Amino acid sequence: MNECYRNFHLQLLTGEWREGSGENSRPVVNPYSGETLLSIRSATTGDLDATYQKAAEAQKAWADTPPAERSALMLRVVSIFDERKEEIIDWLIQESGSTRLKATIEWGSARAITLEAASMPARAHGATMSSDIPGKENLVYRKPLGVVGVISPWNFPLHLSQRSVAPAIALGNAVVIKPASDTPVTGGLLLGRIFEEAGLPAGVLGVVIGPGSAIGDDFVSHSIPSLISFTGSTPVGKNIGKIATGGRYLKKVALELGGNSPFVVLDDADVEQAVKAAVFGKFLHQGQICMAINRIIVDATIYDRFVDRFVAHVRTLKVGNPDLMETSIGPIINKSQLEGLQKKIAKAKEQGAKVLLEGEIRGQMVPPHVFGDVTPDMELSSGEIFGPLVGIQKARDEQHALELANATEFGLSSAVFSGDPDRGLKFARKIRAGMAHVNDMPVNDEAHMPFGGEKNSGLGRFNGDWAIEEFSTVQWVSVQRSPRQYPF
Ligand code: NAD
Repeated sequence: MNECYRNFHLQLLTGEWREGSGENSRPVVNPYSGETLLSIRSATTGDLDATYQKAAEAQKAWADTPPAERSALMLRVVSIFDERKEEIIDWLIQESGSTRLKATIEWGSARAITLEAASMPARAHGATMSSDIPGKENLVYRKPLGVVGVISPWNFPLHLSQRSVAPAIALGNAVVIKPASDTPVTGGLLLGRIFEEAGLPAGVLGVVIGPGSAIGDDFVSHSIPSLISFTGSTPVGKNIGKIATGGRYLKKVALELGGNSPFVVLDDADVEQAVKAAVFGKFLHQGQICMAINRIIVDATIYDRFVDRFVAHVRTLKVGNPDLMETSIGPIINKSQLEGLQKKIAKAKEQGAKVLLEGEIRGQMVPPHVFGDVTPDMELSSGEIFGPLVGIQKARDEQHALELANATEFGLSSAVFSGDPDRGLKFARKIRAGMAHVNDMPVNDEAHMPFGGEKNSGLGRFNGDWAIEEFSTVQWVSVQRSPRQYPF
């Protein structure tokens, strides 16, 4: 490992790697082994302010660099992702409890959005438009926003930071990242090292480590960032939206929040294929994915067959060391998430859900729990689970399945299985969610396709042309080429 990739107790403040000025340090713990990987002294609001100031200064020159130079930088970042693939995957396993499979998927997604971002400088464009006023020329210039503040969660830390960082920097912005406290390395510090190695000028990217509860409000309300791109839970995201739009300085917000994805199996579905999709879409990363299946809704005519096959398949999943390729289910990220899941299991039983599969919880390892005869009023249906538990609901018919699918305050992703793809397509278009997949599971993300939610799942879209819109703004400039006739 390159020596500079070891000093992760330092943060990228004001374009330099140094310790936070806070009094408290926080350990970064491997959620599987319990080993302390390193300890990081927290940044203060003073560190944050200085980093924002430096970003604002560095952004001016960065915005003026030719598009080809910004593209070339992104391509160098892609090369470093390739050269350091094993190191990056290893960090994801160690710090975020990702299984080797999930870490490899995440590495691939973060690489893909970087490659997509490399094309953005050349794709971003303005317009010329005609005018109702004689002699006037109308121009629409596309410009960077300035400084973007990125707040990311712990579940896909590398990708969920990079899907904002790469487009924002490619389009001429500077960025300051505040990763989640459980994943400071994979959510920010690693990207700081990679962009530095690729030759990004000092200050264009900052990484500030500190608890959301201590520096979060200042991160959002600070005068410098023009956009806060937040990915995380709905309650925290709503509060960030309030601060960003209701405080002293008005700013744009992109909010990618919680989900409650329905997975619907219609009466003509290929049950075997639906089972395989459901198992993967539920249990990848221990179910700690915003798009993960939260509710399985099965037509009554095939309910028993689906349940039997589903439980049989789930029984085969290996729970254990995330470093091993054969492991499907690794550890839960931290004790507080674990306690939340234990409460959800107890509540499901108390509310009358039928236990179809359970197992003993050891440390932070939670084996799959499957519940049947689940109804929409139970907590398993109404709340976001974010763990390896799932409830199966029975639908009377297609109309009832649609009602159940839409009976949620969330609207991120969704999926439907049908033997007739056009029937599936019709059904998918009636689901009120930002994303719907026919004959697949809801965990899908492609760097050129719009990613985002409806209802309480958020505001805005990532990826492709949608990211260009999100991370830039337009200015109308008009030129009066012949003297205008004024009425008085
Ligand atoms: P969280 O909301 O607890 O934390 C997310 C980030 O916000 C962390 O960096 C945290 O430190 C920070 N934060 C906390 N309090 C803050 C405050 N007051 N001000 C500013 N920042 C603050 O979420 P989490 O537990 O890390 O992640 C899980 C949640 O994220 C789930 O609800 C999941 O659905 C959601 N999520 C959504 C998407 C999506 O794309 N829609 C993707 C992944 C995760």
